Parts: sequence; C-alpha cells; structure tokens
Amino acid sequence: MNHTAVDPSQPRHGQYPGPHAAAAVAVVALHAAWSRPKGALATVLAGCTAYAFTDFYLNVLHMFLDKEENMTHALPQIRVLAESFQEHHSDTTFTFRENHMADIDMLIFTVASTFIAWSALAWLTRRSLPRSLALWTLLVCLFGELAIYNHSLMHARTHGIGIPGWARYLQDLGVLPSPTFHRVHHTTFVENYAFLVGAGSLYDGIPSRLDYSRLHALFWMAQPHTVISAVSACSLLYAARPQFARPKVA
Ligand SMILES: [Zn+2]
Ligand SMILES: [Zn+2]
Repeated sequence: MNHTAVDPSQPRHGQYPGPHAAAAVAVVALHAAWSRPKGALATVLAGCTAYAFTDFYLNVLHMFLDKEENMTHALPQIRVLAESFQEHHSDTTFTFRENHMADIDMLIFTVASTFIAWSALAWLTRRSLPRSLALWTLLVCLFGELAIYNHSLMHARTHGIGIPGWARYLQDLGVLPSPTFHRVHHTTFVENYAFLVGAGSLYDGIPSRLDYSRLHALFWMAQPHTVISAVSACSLLYAARPQFARPKVA
C-alpha cells in the first residue's frame, strides 16, 4: 500500500455516480415506483435478495479481476478492469483522489439498461415481468454504488483524510465494511474480498477451490445482467404459454 503519496490536508475528491449510471438508474427507479412488489413480505424479500446477491457478485467480481491471467484476457474491457483492480493493490489513493464512483458508470448503466430493454420487450409483447424485478434491479445498482463509495471512504480514512460522520459511524458499527477489514485484503491479497458486510470473508475460499476456467464461468453467471435476463426470459416464456380452456363438466 502506498501511504506516502497523499497530503492529509488535501480534501477528498467528490464521489458521485457517473452520468450514464445516474440516468439509467433514475429510469429504473421510476419503473420500480410504478411496478412495486405486492405487500411488505415481497418488498423485504426483494431487498434482502438484492443485498445478498450484490455481496456475492462483488466478491466474485473482485476475485476474478484480481487474477493475473486476466491481464491477457481476450476481451479488452476485462483487461482494463483487471488492470484497474490489480493497480489498486499498489496505489490505493486514486480511490479518493478521483471520483471512484465513475469507475463503475458503465457497469451500473449496463445493468439498469438490461432491465430497461427487457421491460421494453415485455411491453411490446404485452406481457409483464415479475413485479419485484424493478425494485431488485434498482437495489442491486444502489448497493453497488454504496459499496464503491464506501471503498473510497475506507481508503481516505486509512490515509487520515476526513470522511462523513455518518459513514464513519456505520463503519465502526459494522454496517459498512471498515478500513481495518479492508486493510487485510491489501496485506494478504487473498482474503477479505468483500465490499459489503454481507457474508464477510465466507466466500474467500472460492478462488482456491475453483480453477481459472470455473471462476471465469462463475464470473459470467453471477453478472446481474445474466440474472435479470434469465428471470425476464423465463417470465416472458412462461407468460407466452398457451392457456388451455378447462374441459366443461357435464
Ligand atoms: Zn484485490
Ligand atoms: Zn481497496
């Protein structure tokens, strides 16, 4: 870790979502307000599964992009992401010297856009997606933004730079990952991959149990785009099944 590159009196860079992500998430939020889950239980379930999923996804994303093999990945987008994750191990300061949240602008934009595209297809074909999917997608995007925002704050705090009091309080309370938790990752590089509190270090064993090709497959399967598309496709196919009339009872 590089602790010498930053002047503690230097203010942090502002942290805010990128413009593409903000616009697409606003559309999903409007959709979620219009198509809400029915009842408190469905709403709580959508919230809990979105949090658990985002925690798992961010673990897998981090584990996969930390793999050196990705520096020569066939897809340039993966090479760029892997470079960014692995450079972060040697220079942690860009997370608060720059707008770190802009780094996931395209990721969040494409997640929200995937939902918007499936909603448009459902509308065109006069079918509907599960009512909880809009809220679930919205929360996955928001938990992702919260995770990267807190990542920036953890590194700022480690360098003695002030962070908002509420965030410091939630880190100390254990509601958000703390600098102490994250520092372990920057010391060992194979532990504490998590960006949300969630299951903590429960997933840390995945990279040692799965070889590169299996982790690669898990990386694509765990993408929010994949989950949204699978749920939407199944839902539209199910809705398209012909409804057989019940035989009349004599
Ligand atoms: Zn890492
Ligand atoms: Zn970090």
